[in-house]
Amino acid sequence: MRGRVLCSTAMPRARIVFLGTGGALNPERYQAALLVERGTTRCLLDTGGGLGVVRRLLAAEVDPSSVGHVFLSHRHLDHVGGLEPLLMYVFYQSVRTGQPLPSVRLYALPGSATAVRASQAAADASGERVFGERLAWVTPTGGVAVELDAGARLTLVPVDHLPPGGEAGGCVLDVDGARVVYSGDTRPCEALTDAARGADLLVHEVGGLESRAELLHRVGHSTAADAGRAAARAGARALALFHAPAAQWVAPADLLAEARRQAPGVRVPQRGRDDAGGVTIRKSELVRAAGLEPARPFGQCVLSASRLPVTPRPRSPRDAEESTRVSTGGAGRIRTAE
Ligand SMILES: [Zn+2]
Repeated sequence: MRGRVLCSTAMPRARIVFLGTGGALNPERYQAALLVERGTTRCLLDTGGGLGVVRRLLAAEVDPSSVGHVFLSHRHLDHVGGLEPLLMYVFYQSVRTGQPLPSVRLYALPGSATAVRASQAAADASGERVFGERLAWVTPTGGVAVELDAGARLTLVPVDHLPPGGEAGGCVLDVDGARVVYSGDTRPCEALTDAARGADLLVHEVGGLESRAELLHRVGHSTAADAGRAAARAGARALALFHAPAAQWVAPADLLAEARRQAPGVRVPQRGRDDAGGVTIRKSELVRAAGLEPARPFGQCVLSASRLPVTPRPRSPRDAEESTRVSTGGAGRIRTAE
């Protein structure tokens, strides 16, 4: 029996846009921020720092005022520093256009929410004040799913980062039958691996190579091999690395190669292309030192619940080399495009 068709107009497809995939000290990439979008439901996974998240949303042709959900993985500024600029940008857009201020829900573990709010208050930030009741903090305990919208759920997963006891979280997003797991920042974490069982896509942080494992684990991060092992143990269908260090520390291709060695049955995409009905990858920000102002959005990952077999058709021999096909055989389909 045929499943839902990828290009059906009846069911808007979900997609992920990799707005920022750089680590905290990477000057080549925007800091951690992903957008999960399905119809009018738009959920940010972290906000990076500064106004970068607004710039990247605009580059992806997404109105920042349309983001109704924001997941904040933990208190560090490379993940939450963009929240205040985002809120204030949206507020002044409403002043300019006369449109009512939208409602925004923020999701974080309770201790993280408290820390972020205290930090905002200490900085005399205005976002909470100008949004008033239109800004709602949602602080479920780990493992409790919250509904973003019909057909879209977010489940917090406590992970292992810094500071000790500082409450860092990843999350599981179930959208239209597809499951995406976002690690946030973490050392190797069994709870995250458990949560990623059977995931269609595991988005896992990476701080460097196994040769620096001791240092990386000490500062609460994972190696590319850790990410690969997590994906392999979880049986994830695909693994996307993010939170990458600058190329002067490690070549992105080496990160991908190390992850792949640990996850031979898992797709770890490098480059590819969009293909009607296919699941191909073009995650160029992941693997090259992207300019700070890319001319167009990239790293879009389209999710669908199709069960149809998929055979991408390469457009050229080079594309054929760079394309990679996902054969999930299950409910979730992932398609990424530059
Ligand atoms: Zn970070």
